[in-house]
Amino acid sequence: MTDRPTVTFLDLKAQQRRIEADLRARLERVLAHCQFVLGPEVAELEASLAAFCGAAHCVAVSSGTDALQIAMMAEGIGRGDAVFLPAFTYTATAEVPLVLGATPVFVDVDPATFQIDPAHLAARIDAVARAGRLRPRAIIGVDLFGQPADWPAIAAIASRHGLVTIDDCAQSFGASLHGARLGRHADVTTTSFFPSKPLGGYGDGGAMFTEDSDRAALCRSLRTHGEGTTRYEVLRTGMNGRLDTLQAAVLLAKLAVFEDELAARARIAAAYDAALRDVVTVPARVPDSTSAWAIYAILLRDGATRERVQAALRADGVPTAIYYPRALHQQPAYRDHHDATVLPVAEDLATRILALPIHPDLHDDAVAAVCAALRRAVA
Ligand SMILES: *Cc1c(COP(=O)(O)O)cnc(C)c1O
Repeated sequence: MTDRPTVTFLDLKAQQRRIEADLRARLERVLAHCQFVLGPEVAELEASLAAFCGAAHCVAVSSGTDALQIAMMAEGIGRGDAVFLPAFTYTATAEVPLVLGATPVFVDVDPATFQIDPAHLAARIDAVARAGRLRPRAIIGVDLFGQPADWPAIAAIASRHGLVTIDDCAQSFGASLHGARLGRHADVTTTSFFPSKPLGGYGDGGAMFTEDSDRAALCRSLRTHGEGTTRYEVLRTGMNGRLDTLQAAVLLAKLAVFEDELAARARIAAAYDAALRDVVTVPARVPDSTSAWAIYAILLRDGATRERVQAALRADGVPTAIYYPRALHQQPAYRDHHDATVLPVAEDLATRILALPIHPDLHDDAVAAVCAALRRAVA
């Protein structure tokens, strides 16, 4: 018997070894200049990120959640406003409208791609407009698991109803749709640099992108307590939403290898597809797109199968994760904010979805071990 390869769900130490020299040099420079808040690395990162995704403006902020909040504050979204978002996503997408006093309206997702379902989105907007209690204001399209949402369809619906579009790209920075990287498919795009995201820092961080220079300036002001052109002029109610200089330095070192990492993730996804498509439902691809492969999620027959397979994989040394065990409208915190609408696809996915390890330092022998273990588990 040969030694079983170690299978990790995420391996930040291996990544650190690859970028160590550049990383340490960048951190040393910050330690030397001591401009820990909005130091030169932050502006350098903003320029590099904008160039990477082709966006006109980038504003680096303290987290993906704060990016969403600043984007919505810039639109003046609050009480009486309806914000439409997918029911199958991370909690932050629904949390921010509620923090601002607005009402999240949960929309079902596509059963093949797991992205927000444009037909259901249009129906939900019509229903809210007809009821007349809330004012439809914004759509947050989430690019789930690394793949893009259907932005042309979302944009068409938004323009019909005069709604602002926010792209929650926390999981999918680096992905593209119709040949253009995410970052300019919505009025404003937000992303996260949480350590486990495809482009992750060593702590919390985020960024926002827009083509509109006025919106960018407003977001910049909101990021620093609503300040004006001089430091102690306060123009509006803002927040402390800045990215640390040290995080910007880390992200610059990671951005240098990000293209290679995206390619490595795509190779692993292709290997999983080829080895597993005859035994489980592998992820459907959004047409004419590339994925950042934050998450590689398979579907099993039902909840009992998932439980059995996850336990068998664990016993075989293969870590897995469940994104997400509940749709958002089923969460205790959000269920009272939801009308009685059944969202059958999101509810079903939550019962039988399972994420396999995928990261740039997962080697071929580990990928093969995952595939072999999964084939045994479902046999
Ligand atoms: C991670 C994530 C966020 C929040 O990002 P943080 O940086 O952790 O605040 C928001 N939306 C989605 C879809 C996410 O996956």
